[in-house]
Amino acid sequence: MAQGDSDLHGQKEQVMPVVSVVIPLFREGEHLARSVASILQVLQSMGETFELVLVDDGSPDNTWEQITRLREAHAEITGIRLSRNFGKEAALAAGLDKARGQAVLVMDGDLQHPPALIPQMLHLWRSGADVVEAVKRSRGRESISSRLRAGLFYRIFTRLTGVDIKGASDFKLMDRRVVDAWQLLRERNLFFRGMNAWLGFNRVQLPFDVAERAEGRSSWSLLQLLKLAFTAVTSFSSAPLYMMIFMGLVFIALALVIGAQTLYMKFSGLAVDGFTTVILLLLLIGGVLSFGLGLVGVYIARIYEEVKGRPRYIIAEQID
Ligand code: UDP
Ligand code: MG
Repeated sequence: MAQGDSDLHGQKEQVMPVVSVVIPLFREGEHLARSVASILQVLQSMGETFELVLVDDGSPDNTWEQITRLREAHAEITGIRLSRNFGKEAALAAGLDKARGQAVLVMDGDLQHPPALIPQMLHLWRSGADVVEAVKRSRGRESISSRLRAGLFYRIFTRLTGVDIKGASDFKLMDRRVVDAWQLLRERNLFFRGMNAWLGFNRVQLPFDVAERAEGRSSWSLLQLLKLAFTAVTSFSSAPLYMMIFMGLVFIALALVIGAQTLYMKFSGLAVDGFTTVILLLLLIGGVLSFGLGLVGVYIARIYEEVKGRPRYIIAEQID
């Protein structure tokens, strides 16, 4: 379809690959050649046409050099270099915009997502799945603290948003329709896993064990993780705002109880002079303020939803 169009317009002849593999890369120069070699090996053994989209997310090391070198050796490789480090989610988005395959596979560049799983994912796609999600059965070697962090985050996220993404990874295969739908979500704050779950479609899960990192270390700092978690929650749920309203209500209720008690003390002559007024005012103002803030917040949340301009629905199929 699109290919035919571009041919008609006399553009560079392009063959649309069946599979695109998108890999965001940050400081992976050390072992990129090795990772890419093992991914290429799997792809070549499958006998499908493919392309490999390598996105350098503004790495300070030699990642881009490695990509150019790899590109010289393999025509299937496309390289994109972002102008600075935009973060994994943005790098993914850049790669997805570039990918032209009928199926688009997203994976990490550190071999933690085993390439050996690719044929199976493709097979599931061929037999009708729109999204094949590799779910973590185990999380590989990870420090207890990061395990706890992840556990806590997924717990809270599921609670607040009702979208269960526990075990979800960014190792996924998506049908072209899903990628096109993903591109309709125009928001700037990205949380790939959550947004992908929001899209729906026919999803199949495939459990896998997270391998150990090829080399180097995970480059997420605690601050980056916190930021991602915060984006994830705030862009999927306004629950924290409703919590504010709830707190306001609790406060007002408390104000009534304590107010009654203070008044009783006052009239029975037990209270220190002037104290009653202060207590009453504090309670009342506190309650009304946090209730009001929450209410304003909810309207802001509505505006936020609208500004995101997400499509109201996404059609999976049509019969004309
Ligand atoms: N990554 C990226 N930009 C960043 C951080 C990470 O593109 O700012 C890429 C990284 O190169 C790797 C993937 O995202 O391909 C996962 O990163 P990492 O292995 O550091 O995270 P973890 O495996 O701990 O989730
Ligand atoms: Mg990793």
